[in-house]
Amino acid sequence: MSFKSLGLMTEILRAVSDKGYSEPTPIQKQAIPVVLEGRDLMGGAQTGTGKTAGFTLPLLQRLMETESRHASQNDKRSNNSRNKKQYSKRRPIRALVLTPTRELAAQVAESVDTYGKHLPLKSTVVYGGVSINPQKMKLIRGVDILVATPGRLLDHVSQRSADLSDIDILVLDEADRMLDMGFIRDIRKVLALLPKDKQTLLFSATFSDEIKKLSGELLKNPALIEVARRN
Ligand code: AMP
Repeated sequence: MSFKSLGLMTEILRAVSDKGYSEPTPIQKQAIPVVLEGRDLMGGAQTGTGKTAGFTLPLLQRLMETESRHASQNDKRSNNSRNKKQYSKRRPIRALVLTPTRELAAQVAESVDTYGKHLPLKSTVVYGGVSINPQKMKLIRGVDILVATPGRLLDHVSQRSADLSDIDILVLDEADRMLDMGFIRDIRKVLALLPKDKQTLLFSATFSDEIKKLSGELLKNPALIEVARRN
């Protein structure tokens, strides 16, 4: 099976072949078609399985598919005073990827850059432990995709450098680690700021009761995909 047969667009296939991948990994084979369909997903997968490309590749494509719709809606809205604000707003953040650590955030952001290099989408990453101002500058210029750790994301929301009201796709990466690290309250605060109607992808290496509870609340009729640990 090839990446092409999974339904990915030319620009994404080019980025994948630039990277030297010849065949999708098991999680990619299963996840990519499901995400492209717009379904929610519960993925049981560890690092090393190729899960990052498994959600990033179809996420990029979904954003490309809805990009023109956003642009034309904004055109129509430009005459309407209620929506003047909307029209003058910067490029909205449409996809949010939450990760437990800054290392993982940086890795995911790098993958988004790599796989999206032939696409006109913008992305950035925010995490704690470093100065907030350079992150703010990037957010203020406008991004389509934001990769973030939960605490620093909430700092940006409270300082109004991030608006989460236009999110179409949410990814919770390594959700079990986020819970282990005590991020549940921050995650719940973030969830409360997101639109109800969105696509949600949750990845976790383990399925504790807490993960099951969170996914039960968050995911609508999710596809369940589980792949074994590599070697
Ligand atoms: P991840 O599980 O997302 O952290 O990915 C693990 C590693 O596998 C990363 O170094 C990726 O660059 C690599 N990788 C992802 N997908 C493929 C693929 N289809 N073929 C070969 N390597 C891949």
